[in-house]
Amino acid sequence: MPVHLVTHPLVHDALAILRDEQTAPELFRRMAVRISLLLAAEATRDLPSTAVSVSTPIGPAPGLRVTGDVVVVPVLRAGLGMLDAVLELIPTARVGHIGLQRDEMTAVASRYYSKLPLTLGGSFVLMIDPMLATGGSAVAALDLLRDAGARDVRVICIVSAPEGIAYVEQHHPDVHIFTPAVDQGLNDHKFIVPGLGDFGDRLYGTQ
Ligand code: URA
Repeated sequence: MPVHLVTHPLVHDALAILRDEQTAPELFRRMAVRISLLLAAEATRDLPSTAVSVSTPIGPAPGLRVTGDVVVVPVLRAGLGMLDAVLELIPTARVGHIGLQRDEMTAVASRYYSKLPLTLGGSFVLMIDPMLATGGSAVAALDLLRDAGARDVRVICIVSAPEGIAYVEQHHPDVHIFTPAVDQGLNDHKFIVPGLGDFGDRLYGTQ
């Protein structure tokens, strides 16, 4: 499975702020948007585009316009913190939602909500889920996308664990993962070490 390690210094600058336990929700949200914009730009490098000609005030100029259908799918709730950034880049994208609840004891993901666009077969699908920990939620969400007909799927994660990458690779070997960080591993509570804590709680101030 292709894992794309994003090395841009601005991505890592935002990540360091996200990781810092002193970062309050307001700044955390801003950094989540900033890093998501940069990661989404990487993940969409091969978006289909068409050659066009535009008229500048001086004369005709060749250009490229992005074409094709893009579907963005945040995995609730933490993925919502990345959605506005992706829509800023691709305002015409359709949005699907997948709600997965992680059992605090077992870390097993169960689905409580799913609403996807009807046709996904020809779409460029971007799944956004900031923390790839065990990979359970990612695989459950990818299963849903595949069952709904998605073929061309990329996953954007802000922090990943080797266990999660391996689990996704086992179940969805053709899915591309874009992440700036593959951390050491998981602790007994299935949190990423060192990670950044609970992304949703830090985003929404619920810890
Ligand atoms: N979800 C989080 O928010 N953080 C982790 O470390 C793992 C899963």
